[in-house]
Amino acid sequence: MTEETRTITSFADLSLAPEIARAIDEVGYETPSPIQAQSIPPLLAGRDLLGQAQTGTGKTAAFALPLLSRLDLSAKYPQVLVLTPTRELALQVAEAVQAYARHLKGFNVLPVYGGQNMGQQLRQLQRGAHVVVGTPGRIQDHLRRGTLKLDRLSCVVVDEADEMLKMGFIDDVEAILQHTPQERQTALFSATMPAGVLRVARRYLRDPVEVRIKSKTSTVSTIKQRYWMVKGLAKLDALTRILEAEEIDAMLIFVRTKIATVELAEKLEARGFSSAALNGDMTQGLREKAVERLKNGSLDIVVATDVAARGLDVQRVSHVVNYDIPYDTESYVHRIGRTGRAGREGTAILFVAPRERRMLSAIEQATRQKIAPMNLPTRKDITERRVGLFKEQIQNAMQGEDLSFFEELVDRCEQEYEVEPRRIAAAMAYLLQQDRPLMPEEKTFVEPTPASRQRSSGAQRSTGDEGLRRYRVEVGKVHGVVPGHLVGAIANEANISNRDIGQIKIFHDFSLVDLPGDMPEAKFRHLQQVWVCGQHLQLSLDTGADSSPRQGKPPKRRPAGKPGGYKGNPVKKHPAAAKRASKKVHKS
Ligand code: AMP
Repeated sequence: MTEETRTITSFADLSLAPEIARAIDEVGYETPSPIQAQSIPPLLAGRDLLGQAQTGTGKTAAFALPLLSRLDLSAKYPQVLVLTPTRELALQVAEAVQAYARHLKGFNVLPVYGGQNMGQQLRQLQRGAHVVVGTPGRIQDHLRRGTLKLDRLSCVVVDEADEMLKMGFIDDVEAILQHTPQERQTALFSATMPAGVLRVARRYLRDPVEVRIKSKTSTVSTIKQRYWMVKGLAKLDALTRILEAEEIDAMLIFVRTKIATVELAEKLEARGFSSAALNGDMTQGLREKAVERLKNGSLDIVVATDVAARGLDVQRVSHVVNYDIPYDTESYVHRIGRTGRAGREGTAILFVAPRERRMLSAIEQATRQKIAPMNLPTRKDITERRVGLFKEQIQNAMQGEDLSFFEELVDRCEQEYEVEPRRIAAAMAYLLQQDRPLMPEEKTFVEPTPASRQRSSGAQRSTGDEGLRRYRVEVGKVHGVVPGHLVGAIANEANISNRDIGQIKIFHDFSLVDLPGDMPEAKFRHLQQVWVCGQHLQLSLDTGADSSPRQGKPPKRRPAGKPGGYKGNPVKKHPAAAKRASKKVHKS
């Protein structure tokens, strides 16, 4: 395989249509991922492409952005066909395409997959779609019935070709390709390149540009690497526990988008951890200021995108958290290299959602190192740590402060109340930790097992997926709704990634949708007003009583701030920092 050597560092370097560039900016992508930087120019130039990339590398945008930039919107027939092995991927791709095309007037994308209502699909096909995303079986059905015409297609994308091969769809893919014009452009993406995939590539791609992601093999041996498989608890709660229990000097947290840097920094602030966002939207001056505060210890947590943290060299960074998994092994190596500076010890923690397992293996392979799984700190761990810090503060006060006034106070209490000094000290300690108990509340440590979910009040039903809650929307079968409608509306209107939309169940006159449990109130309220199939969604938290009147309340959040800005809030010390400021009683 050959590699494109040209380095593209900004979306502005790519000649994308202005409407697409605008959408990308709004979605919050800062720079093209490696597969995007390598694939977009040849695809824009009309070349065929063979891309070795897996889910999580940004491959959807790698083909969607250039192909959308080249659409003829005035022509209402399918111009791009994307073939995916599964219905889930078809929906995800359709969703992503819809988000990238949000400023293309009159644009239509149609997901087509098995199990979906045929009549509905036919009506949508008749209305005309510029991009069709589908599974091979259902596309074949439509071809046989003559309800889908691919004779004017300008491009076909075969996504996850190795999965197609594994699932026995590769012959269908070939049959479909034979229904398409000879002079079409073809792009084929696959995480691996088994012989079966290469055979199809050789037969159907014309002089393709071949791209794959470089993998760097070295990491720093002073960095302790661990991963947490995201389950049973939202990532934010997991991060909070880590912040509480680990000995942290400073922490750098990586997320994917500019918007996420601000959102997460705000959520951490709300939980009492002083933190700031670092992203490419901030001026150079503000970025430097944040880095300076991190260096001089007036700030302990920075939430950054890859670009903004490029080259960051702050020796205090003891922890790097990959809150969102990186797109490729190279950025992983770069990210974790922000700790363990100048020969110091560093810790790197990677959050891996079950569907991102492949990226974890790719990282392990590329770095030739196994990453150890970690358990999240328990209530006992956190109690021990808080007690340890408290004891340290007591000792510091005994050694460094004039306590004569308080000693007299204890003597007086002892005489007046006729109690042991031990009891008086205990009462004082109790008063001191009232606002922030040394023992965290038990209820925050109950892991949401399926059984406990059923038992829980019912007002906020959790789902099987991490961090998701079940919501109810007032549109159902009777209104003609299909999952794609809901995914499309929710993803677009609330800017929720299709990956964060879980199971969808459609009932007679309502549906249940699994969505992030920590959705800001503004988004929640907005979604209540959104129209789908002629109905207001009237989103509410599902109460479990499917036929009962609606009674869910929105999740309570503090109002979200404006994205994109630098947060320079005064530092609130959390226990890790309190260690350094040892004279202060720890309190956030
Ligand atoms: P994919 O590999 O296409 O499944 O994309 C994985 C995730 O990365 C999706 O959530 C995308 O929204 C996100 N993503 C894709 N490209 C970028 C980018 N250039 N910057 C930030 N996030 C991106």
